[in-house]
Amino acid sequence: MTSKLSLYLHIPFCVKKCDYCAFYSLSGVTDDVKQEYFEALVRQLDFLETDREIQTIYLGGGTPPVLGVLRLCKLIEHIRTRFILSPDCEITVEVNPKTVDFNDLSALYISGANRLSVGVQSANDDILRSIGRIHSFSDAADCIRDAYRAGFKNVSADVIFALPSLTAETLKQTLELIMLTNVDHISAYSLQLEEGTPLYSRRGSLVLPDEECEEEQYELICDTLKSNRFSHYEVSSFAKPGFESRHNLNYWACGEYFGLGAGAHSFYKGKRFSTPQSVQDYISRSRISLLAPTDYDASPFQTDYDLYEESIMLGLRTSRGAVIPPEKRNAASRIASLGFGTFDGVTLRLNSKGFRVSNAVIAEILG
Ligand code: SF4
Repeated sequence: MTSKLSLYLHIPFCVKKCDYCAFYSLSGVTDDVKQEYFEALVRQLDFLETDREIQTIYLGGGTPPVLGVLRLCKLIEHIRTRFILSPDCEITVEVNPKTVDFNDLSALYISGANRLSVGVQSANDDILRSIGRIHSFSDAADCIRDAYRAGFKNVSADVIFALPSLTAETLKQTLELIMLTNVDHISAYSLQLEEGTPLYSRRGSLVLPDEECEEEQYELICDTLKSNRFSHYEVSSFAKPGFESRHNLNYWACGEYFGLGAGAHSFYKGKRFSTPQSVQDYISRSRISLLAPTDYDASPFQTDYDLYEESIMLGLRTSRGAVIPPEKRNAASRIASLGFGTFDGVTLRLNSKGFRVSNAVIAEILG
């Protein structure tokens, strides 16, 4: 048995596009296409070698339940039958609160899913409506409650800050209401206003936070969650003790993962590659193995230097930190002495204050 592997299955379907979303995802897809896509994923899973122990599985999107909860359960069961899973394999499913009910969550849990990531985004319904989310906060709170009732013991909530018209008070209220649901993990991302989205075209009429306000909101999140027993273990991620996302920790530690589905990324056998961002293309190519990304991706094998740079960049995003090369240790020492983290002479570990300026720190270390 060789080293462990993580699997990512990308489901690029949504009920409706959110107004801020620039990710590749389709709405209004017919059930026939969903079935073909499901079969394509199964075929690609069957091409994958089975000599690796699977340590984490992540079904992300898009909105995975839009594929059909029964199909998600079958995918999980297929993986469990075909591969050897670590005894503590983490199996995460991303959901939009409006796309699953208690029965769906029970079915996912029984099939083997043991971690749920819920797109909550805000506890303010006016804000949710203004960014085109299809659910209210009470839908999200019900979804989290149903997840625990169904058996899940590890539930995460996504939050967006720096949203139009979001005040510090509303953000604090969102965090407090989310914490009342007893979630174990919170991911907080700032809104990226992407060209081509409906929100971008309305930008002239929006009250958008400036850089200073965005920083204050990030600080508010860090302080509020830390004072409620959440550790800040990655730039955007906060967890109660023992609830860090093992799937994401593997990415940040430059561990290998294999991505299946249209537009999924992989780091596999020393090479980073991604599949075509087209559901139809993925379905039509799926009768041959996409494990050898020859005709759709020309990215070279990563050199040792690429890997070294990446390990520093990704390491400095997490509280585990990064090993600093000897010629940069004075700089690391200075960064730590300014209160941005700790440096033990070898490893620099940023804290919340350091995460806020992590891009500048990375530039300093790699410059
Ligand atoms: S649910 Fe997620 S992937 Fe789908 S449109 Fe909204 S933000 Fe994009």
